[in-house]
Amino acid sequence: MQYVSTRGQAPELSFEEAMLSGLARDGGLYVPKSIPRLSKDEIAALEGASYEEVAFVVMRPFIGDSFDDATLKRLIAAAYGSFGHNVRAPLVQLAPGHFLLELFHGPTLAFKDFAMQLIGQFFQEALGRRGERVTIVGATSGDTGSAAMEAFRGLDNVEVFILYPHGRVSEVQRRQMTTPKEENVHALAIDGTFDDAQARLKDMFNDLEFRDEVRLAGVNSINWARVLAQVVYYFTAAISLGAPNRAVSFTVPTGNFGDIFAGYIAKSMGLPIHKLVVATNQNDILHRCLSTGAYQKGDVLPSISPSMDIQVSSNFERVLFDVYDRDGGAIRQLMSELNDGGFSVSQGALERLQEIFVSGRVSEEETQAMITHANANMGELLCPHSAIGVHVAEAHGSGTVPMVTLATAHPAKFPDAVEAASGIRPPLPNRMADLYERSERVTRVPNDLSALQAVIRENMRK
Ligand SMILES: *Cc1c(COP(=O)(O)O)cnc(C)c1O
Repeated sequence: MQYVSTRGQAPELSFEEAMLSGLARDGGLYVPKSIPRLSKDEIAALEGASYEEVAFVVMRPFIGDSFDDATLKRLIAAAYGSFGHNVRAPLVQLAPGHFLLELFHGPTLAFKDFAMQLIGQFFQEALGRRGERVTIVGATSGDTGSAAMEAFRGLDNVEVFILYPHGRVSEVQRRQMTTPKEENVHALAIDGTFDDAQARLKDMFNDLEFRDEVRLAGVNSINWARVLAQVVYYFTAAISLGAPNRAVSFTVPTGNFGDIFAGYIAKSMGLPIHKLVVATNQNDILHRCLSTGAYQKGDVLPSISPSMDIQVSSNFERVLFDVYDRDGGAIRQLMSELNDGGFSVSQGALERLQEIFVSGRVSEEETQAMITHANANMGELLCPHSAIGVHVAEAHGSGTVPMVTLATAHPAKFPDAVEAASGIRPPLPNRMADLYERSERVTRVPNDLSALQAVIRENMRK
C-alpha cells in the first residue's frame, strides 16, 4: 500500500514513511492511493470480536509491508492495555435509537489516546529497527498534547515538543502536559490561539532545512496513522448495532476534522454508514462550509469546548481531495486561496459532500443546557464536546437508522464547565487523582517561527 499527497507533488511513500514524516513535503497530507474494502462477509465475521481483533482486520490492509502480522498484533495489544475499560470503546444507550460511544477510557481521558497510544508503539518499533531518532513537534488545543506526551514519554529515540495556546486549555489538560517528569517531553505555551500554534507547526515542516536538521516528525491528526487508528471504533460500534446488515449514522464533535474523517474512511471501506454528522461549537467554519460551500476563516472564539476552538480544519483537505476526484492541482489552488482568507467549494464537490455529511452548530448556552439535560434525564454526565454532539444528534437522528454520538472526552477533563451546568464536580479517576499536586514544567514562547526553532534546538537532548 502506497500513500500519495493531496497536493500531488510529493513522493509516494509506504505506510511507515508516511507515518514518520507526517506532513508531505509539498505541504499536503498523505492519503492511501486507494481505499481497501472489506466485504459484507468479512465485516459480519467481526461480530463478537474484541477491539484488538477488529483493529487488526481493519488496519492490516493499510499497513502493507511496514509491520508483519505478528508485530502488528503485538503493537495493538501493547497500545490498548493501558485503557481503563476492557472493551476499550463501550457503547451506552441515551434514548431510543440514540447511543453514546465512550472514547474516554484511555490514559489521558480523551479519544486522542486511541490513536496516540498506538502510534507511540508504531514509532518505537519503526525507529528502533532503523536505529534512528526523531523530534516530534505537535500543536494542541489541549488533548492531543497530553495524549502524545503520555504515549512517548521516556522513549529513547523521540524528543517531544508540544505547543499549546497559553491560557486557552483547561487546568487538567495543562497539568497533563506540564507534569510528566521524563526529560524527552517538553510543554511550550505559545502566545496565541490553537490556529497560531498549528500555523507555526506547518511553517516548521515547510522549512525543509530545519525539518531535516532536527529530523522533524509530526503526530497531529495530519498524520495518517492517527486517522487510521480511529477508523476501528466506527467498525466496533456499527457492528454491535447490527452492521453489516443494518446501517448506522454517527455524530462527531468536530474541530480538525480528523475523527470524522476516520468515519468517512470506514464508510469508504464498506461499513454501512448512513450519515456522518459534523457537530461544531460557535467556531463553525465547517458548518458554514457544508451549508453554503464557503470555507472562510473567522476569528477563533474561546469556548467551554476548547478542543474544538479551531477555524482551519486541516483534515478537511483530505475529503476535498476525494470530492475533487483526487486532483492535486485543484487542492493546491484552494489552499493558496485559504492563505488569503478562504475559498468556495465547487457546486459539484459541495453536492458530493452533502450526500455524506450533515452538520450543526451549537451555542455556548445550548451546550450547557445539554449537559444539564443529559445529567437529569439520560443518566450521563457529558463533557462539553460530547454535549455538542448529543445536541446535534438529537436534531438529525431519524427514527429508523440508529445514531451513535461520539463522546470524545471524560467530563473530569473539563470539571469547571461540567460543574457549572450540572452542579456535579466530576472526580478524576483514581489513577490520576494526584494530578493537582504534581509540579509543573513549561516554557512560554512567542508566536514566532525563529524563536520557536531556537527553543527546540536549545532543549533537545544532545
Ligand atoms: C480533538 C478533540 C475533538 C475534535 O476532534 P477532531 O479530530 O480535531 O475533529 C473533539 N473533542 C475532544 C474532547 C477532542 O480532544
